[in-house]
Amino acid sequence: MLGLACALALVRRGVRVTVFDDGLPGQASRVAAGMIAPAFEAALEDADAGRAALYRSARDAWESVLPGVVQASGAVWLSAEEASAWDMAGRLARLGFCADLLRRSDLEALQPGLAPDLSHGVRALDDGLLSAPEAVAGLTSSVVAAGGRVEPRAWRSEDRDGPVVLAPGPGADDLVEVAPELGLLTPIKGQRISYPRVRDPGPVLRAQGVYLAPGPGGLIAGATMEPGRRDLDLDPAQLAALHARAAALLPALGSQPYEGRAGVRMATPDGLPLAGSSSRDGVILAAGARRNGWLLAPVVAEVVAAAVLSEPPPPEAALLDPGRFARLAVSG
Ligand SMILES: Cc1cc2nc3c(=O)[nH]c(=O)nc-3n(C[C@H](O)[C@H](O)[C@H](O)COP(=O)(O)OP(=O)(O)OC[C@H]3O[C@@H](n4cnc5c(N)ncnc54)[C@H](O)[C@@H]3O)c2cc1C
Repeated sequence: MLGLACALALVRRGVRVTVFDDGLPGQASRVAAGMIAPAFEAALEDADAGRAALYRSARDAWESVLPGVVQASGAVWLSAEEASAWDMAGRLARLGFCADLLRRSDLEALQPGLAPDLSHGVRALDDGLLSAPEAVAGLTSSVVAAGGRVEPRAWRSEDRDGPVVLAPGPGADDLVEVAPELGLLTPIKGQRISYPRVRDPGPVLRAQGVYLAPGPGGLIAGATMEPGRRDLDLDPAQLAALHARAAALLPALGSQPYEGRAGVRMATPDGLPLAGSSSRDGVILAAGARRNGWLLAPVVAEVVAAAVLSEPPPPEAALLDPGRFARLAVSG
């Protein structure tokens, strides 16, 4: 998906683009819940102001990529403890996000059927949601409509015909010879479940260790973070644990059938993607977006397009520069 987002930014600037996608299973983009969550992701990561601003501008940029694709649904943090809700509200406010403290009666109005012990909540209106499969389809058709080509096969070095943008997701290991920075990436497997019979249009619900997000194939509950794992095996015990955590928020889910899926996120040491020029001439990277690839795609695409065209980089480029770890090693 990062490759498609970059391709769209480039074809819209009049560049001739071919996207190669081998379509192997495990593409994280199709498994994702689609949360576009600058507020809660920044708060949960204890982000600094710069990272929070990056997340916010990425959310804002979606409107010019695919207008209307992000639903401004907001998201609600749920807790059985008042202190935890105050802590979350404080973190959001310190990062400049709008945070509404909610009491039980407010929560019941927003989402019927909540577990009785969930007495407190915090609503972040800055967060939204997209449907990942629909957004992949929208990016693909927009690239093609603007004159780009999409080839359903693996990219090989012999295909080079000018600058190349590498956005290989978990396929990064195979391309380290083309761009050594890809060797920094490590996999984090994610398993999630969905409830095909639950078509709940409510807000995204989040709590310690679980989120619930409406999806086109039913309500999604996610997700595991399994560092070092790149297989797509479904572990019934992990899925059952997710199901239990989901039912602890909405007890009616306890009797619902669910299906599991897995994807692999790739991550850098600081959790932000590699976007921009590699140390190798004519090679530009869009990789390693960890758990925020959908959120960050518009910013990654703008940084990549500027690098391909040797335009002045957008302000976010320094945070995402693929050379930042090498510089740290030298100066540290
Ligand atoms: C369970 C789960 C939930 C998530 N939820 C969210 C969320 O709510 N919000 C959010 O922002 N992010 C979320 N993420 C993270 C997000 O999905 C990823 O950060 C993002 O999808 C990464 O996109 P990508 O394009 O880098 O990789 P991918 O989506 O994995 O795509 C890479 C593509 O490159 C192809 N490829 C690899 N090598 C080659 C080659 N040599 N030639 C041709 N093609 C090749 C692969 O087959 C694949 O199709 C979630 C991830 C998981 C696993």
